[in-house]
Amino acid sequence: MVARRCTGGRRRRALRRRRARDWRRRARRRPGVGRARPRRLGRLGVVEPGGARGLLQRRCAGDRRGAAGRRGASMIVLSGASLVLPDRILSPGTLTIENGRIAEIRPDAPSTSHPGSHFAFHGHYIVPGFIDVHVHGVEGFDSLDAPTTGHGDPVAVIAARLPRYGVTAFCPTTVACGPAALRGVLDQVRRARETPGPRSARVLPAHLESNFINPDYSGAQPSGCLRSPRAALGSRGSSAKASAEREDFEAADILAEIERAAPDVGIVTLAPELDGGLDLVLWLTARGHRVSLGHSAATYDEALAAIAAGAKHATHLFNRMPPLGHRAPGLAGAILQTDEVAAEIICDGAHVHPALIRTAIAAKRPSHVIAITDATAVSGLPVGARASLGGRPIVGGEETALLADGTTIAGSRLTMDRAFQTLVGSVGLSLVDAATICATTPARELGLVGHGVLAPDTVADLVVLDANLTVVQTYLGGQIIYSRNNQPLAPV
Ligand SMILES: [Zn+2]
Repeated sequence: MVARRCTGGRRRRALRRRRARDWRRRARRRPGVGRARPRRLGRLGVVEPGGARGLLQRRCAGDRRGAAGRRGASMIVLSGASLVLPDRILSPGTLTIENGRIAEIRPDAPSTSHPGSHFAFHGHYIVPGFIDVHVHGVEGFDSLDAPTTGHGDPVAVIAARLPRYGVTAFCPTTVACGPAALRGVLDQVRRARETPGPRSARVLPAHLESNFINPDYSGAQPSGCLRSPRAALGSRGSSAKASAEREDFEAADILAEIERAAPDVGIVTLAPELDGGLDLVLWLTARGHRVSLGHSAATYDEALAAIAAGAKHATHLFNRMPPLGHRAPGLAGAILQTDEVAAEIICDGAHVHPALIRTAIAAKRPSHVIAITDATAVSGLPVGARASLGGRPIVGGEETALLADGTTIAGSRLTMDRAFQTLVGSVGLSLVDAATICATTPARELGLVGHGVLAPDTVADLVVLDANLTVVQTYLGGQIIYSRNNQPLAPV
């Protein structure tokens, strides 16, 4: 008996050693993410060992840049700033970056013996890099634009433009479109993830605001591209709502594109109340995609059924869904009460009133709310600027993007730096809660282990903000990818 126990102990120890060795091997293969030890992160409330490790987690695991790829890179010390940690602000604090990761966080000044660069940021804040899971475009570029000889892939251009707004990772987002256009953008996503551009945000698997949304809540989405989930899954006797501008493709063609490019499809927005909607939730979740409920008139019970079937995400809570009614809670009510679902909120103060942003955060807590921009190609451009969204002309209105009719809201003009400012300003959140909503929660929900927090041994994707919360520098894997006025601050 005793001997057997001893043998068991040896076996367990051997198993632990083997697991640790496997972990190190995986980390070497996936330098951008794998080195953070879940045990340590779990203590910080980020990712527990053995937590969600689905296909999406592997798909969202970042790109080839990051820590281990830069062994030997010099140390960077950022001192004097207020460090926005997961549970408090350390002010002043010193943050040391080594080999692309946060090596140390300490309350006092750095020792003078540190080799490498030392930047002093008194009067500044340092927050984890923003992660935007819903962004169609920025500065004149839309994810569904065709690549051009002048600029190349729009997805790559968007990735290069976002760091100035503090974004270090994002999900390129599409509106409902035909299969050829979908293939084009998913090919771009694959290329951008395989070969990241210089000084660019990490490109995560795409977010499809899909063809399977409710035509009555489609907003700026082209109704001719909407299809029935039942038809897509191959059953007879069902068809999408007739439309004069219906485009010539079958619903099943869209699922074929999703299957073809599965590793590059992250989030899929759909309306579960459509015929076959629940079956589509099951079909997508079985393949590791993250189903998001949105552009939908689902009742409370229909929403709960979709959540039970595996939906874990909600697309721009309150927008393009029936309003919350005290006798008819509907989709919004189901989202607000359910911890299994993380809710996107467009944080420009126009799409959702700050009072209701506050209410939603109070109901769901910052750990279940994700700030998004729903940015379009007119984001970052002046009012009146013209661009396109999925091939349809849009114009930059005072508060949002608009279709050419001048009245239909077509996404936002928001950028993540302003989303953060709105959360701290008119919504009145603490910096810690705002950073949770802009970085920590999206990282955890997408399975980005070692991202989204300032903590030792996490990937050094971070943003330096001045006292007005304007972006001064953005770091990705410890490298400066944006510096205001293109002027890297002189090391101390
Ligand atoms: Zn959108």
